[in-house]
Amino acid sequence: MSSKDWHTAEMKVAKSYKFRFYPTTDQESLLARTFGCVRFVWNAVIAAREEAWESFGIATSFPDASALLTDLKADPDLAFLGEVSSVPLQQALRHQQRAYDNFFSGRAGKPRFKRKDDVQSAVFMNNAFTLDKQNLVLAKMKESLNIRWSRVLPKAAKVSSVCVTKDPACRYFVSLNFEDEVSAKSVLDTKVGIDLGVASFATLSTGEKIDAPDFFRKDEKTLAFWQRRLARKKKGSQNRRKARRKVARIHARVADRRHDFLHKLSTRLVNENQVLAFESLSVKNMLKNRHLSKSIADASWSEFLRQIEYKAAWYGRQILSCGRFFPSSKTCSHCGFVLPELSLSVREWTCPDCGATHDRDVNAARNILTAGLAVCACGGSVRLPVPA
Ligand SMILES: [Zn+2]
Repeated sequence: MSSKDWHTAEMKVAKSYKFRFYPTTDQESLLARTFGCVRFVWNAVIAAREEAWESFGIATSFPDASALLTDLKADPDLAFLGEVSSVPLQQALRHQQRAYDNFFSGRAGKPRFKRKDDVQSAVFMNNAFTLDKQNLVLAKMKESLNIRWSRVLPKAAKVSSVCVTKDPACRYFVSLNFEDEVSAKSVLDTKVGIDLGVASFATLSTGEKIDAPDFFRKDEKTLAFWQRRLARKKKGSQNRRKARRKVARIHARVADRRHDFLHKLSTRLVNENQVLAFESLSVKNMLKNRHLSKSIADASWSEFLRQIEYKAAWYGRQILSCGRFFPSSKTCSHCGFVLPELSLSVREWTCPDCGATHDRDVNAARNILTAGLAVCACGGSVRLPVPA
């Protein structure tokens, strides 16, 4: 498919906008019961699945799970299940079925029991809410939710489901899921190689270095401090609960800030470039970033790549990746000479063959672009966005 075809391609994509909201006391109480019932049903059905598997070697199907929910609701001791909308309970079982399908096909780990201090969630399909302009009323509620509308839904958006969550910091959010049409952006002739990691968060083949914001590091320290304090509190004590709440709040704020940074950066790079080349992440996983802990860096890079990938698919951009055994750092991007060795501490080097002086990461980013384009020309392992 040529890039011209992408230019005109339109496709439907699933989008989700998330807003914070502030429930009334009644709403809070109904949501607490709904979350509790979702958790109860989820856990009861997992337990039944486990037993069916262990005792009889039977894999539970969705209709079986659904029938089990009907039985639970008919039990007089479980009358509380009838006090909340049944839609989130059915949706939890659909979600659980997908989780098991993923588990059995080896794509994911085994579904876990839900605990009270996890993020709580409930999904309402469009038969269980009404949305009129900015008034969202959920099943069994009288008043609309007090939502902080931080962005405007696209005019044609038809909201098919809403997901209500309460995070461990006790904040409430509602995600509105809808289908949107996106069109590819005009085709550019810009190409960029992107080197992730080590000294900067990302280094571009244009020579630009993008550092992880200072707050990445500061947030990490604050979080570590409060986590240490939490660990010292006595189990089951009031102080421990307070400390856990505090850690959860900091965690939530840190995640929001990081998410925001990654979204801005991925949007910018996809807007500015037609072709974006990366090195597969596994290489960098072995290297230590001097400024960030490994877990934070890994999580941020994989989230960043995930965003780049779907935004590229939306807007008709092309992603190239070069293999993990490609020596991007120690190859001279000017003449192709490969150094026998290049220690991690060397930030700048001069090619013994052609005399070019290289910044380590900019040189790597240029090689990643060249290698990505070469693989693409040979029809090798390249992922192309496929418009619908
Ligand atoms: Zn050279």
